[in-house]
Amino acid sequence: MPKKDTLLVNAGRRPEENFGLVNPAVYHGSTVTFPTLAALETSNAAPFDGVHYGRTGTPTTFAFEEAVAALEGGERTVTLPSGLAAIACALLAFLEAGDHVLVADSVYFPTRRLLGGPLKRFGVETTYYDPLIGAGIAELIRPQTKVVFVESPGSLTFEVQDVPAIAEAAHAKGVAVVMDNTWSAGFYFQPFAHGVDVSVQAATKFIVGHSDAMLGTVTVPARLYERIRGAANGFGYCAGPDDCYLGLRGLRSLSPRMARHQENGLKLARWLKARPEVEAVLHPALPGCPGHNLWKRDFTGACGLFGVVLRPAAEGAVAAFLDGLELFALGYSWGGYESLIIPTEPAKLRTVTPWPYAGPSIRIHTGLEDAEDLIADLEKGLARFTAAR
Ligand SMILES: *Cc1c(COP(=O)(O)O)cnc(C)c1O
Repeated sequence: MPKKDTLLVNAGRRPEENFGLVNPAVYHGSTVTFPTLAALETSNAAPFDGVHYGRTGTPTTFAFEEAVAALEGGERTVTLPSGLAAIACALLAFLEAGDHVLVADSVYFPTRRLLGGPLKRFGVETTYYDPLIGAGIAELIRPQTKVVFVESPGSLTFEVQDVPAIAEAAHAKGVAVVMDNTWSAGFYFQPFAHGVDVSVQAATKFIVGHSDAMLGTVTVPARLYERIRGAANGFGYCAGPDDCYLGLRGLRSLSPRMARHQENGLKLARWLKARPEVEAVLHPALPGCPGHNLWKRDFTGACGLFGVVLRPAAEGAVAAFLDGLELFALGYSWGGYESLIIPTEPAKLRTVTPWPYAGPSIRIHTGLEDAEDLIADLEKGLARFTAAR
């Protein structure tokens, strides 16, 4: 088996099928035509693995899927038009009316909205659990429980979960483990080696990596492929060919980008931790982040996304900090080459685990800029914060 960097360069690439060109073509298409009735009928068989109809994928889609499956150490990947669509597809593939799902309290907020809105309306019940629960999840599993959903670390509050312990407890009762693996990009955490059954990514983030496309992936072992592909086809989800191409293009440089996000992120996190304006830095690679030891055990690295809790301050102090920043843009999403910053309000988004901090929180996505320039920008921002406190 080639090492990860080699896989990322070669997976899903077949120049001999593309006139020798290094990259696959971008196939725009809806109708696929067949030379004979027999060929048309063969193509009609689920799970529509080949080129059948535009909605079920083109060679561009399949090349991207092959590469993501290799990245995550899974066997098959299904592409969705966004990360949230990938989460919806993974949940819809497992859940029906009367079922119960366990979800980490640190979960990405739109996942919570999906569960509390459409899935609740369809008769699916959700219980939120402390992300640090570990093997204790066993006590929350009911006969109706079909899925335990993990997001590790949480992308707002950064608790690292004991995924192997949760998976062991879930599997003992026949429950599937679905993971939102976006933070690690599938690069720093191997979900299937840690007991996960279904790994979801917002490929919009690090895989695309350039803030120019929306894309989601669901990666599974072969035994679950038809279930996921069936849900994606059934609900009519499909991703555009240009976006699949951008995903594939982003993936080729994932390794050096992740290394730089990690290096820059750690420089910023360590610098912030030593500042008097800062109450806490929530970075899984730094001691003090809940689950740091699990990160050390299970992850091979960290991306550049982390949280910072500031000392309590007057209203307006955070705006004074953020508004004047020159290198950090205010914006949702993350994983692109450029640094981003947003204020966060974890206390408002959780339901079963209280948020222990009183001061304002922010989240930083560290981009690929020079870390000293980023630190200088933050330093001026903290001076404005202090002046407004
Ligand atoms: C952004 C994000 C998603 C959703 O991805 P989209 O492509 O924006 O729909 C899901 N999970 C996490 C952790 C995210 O950060």
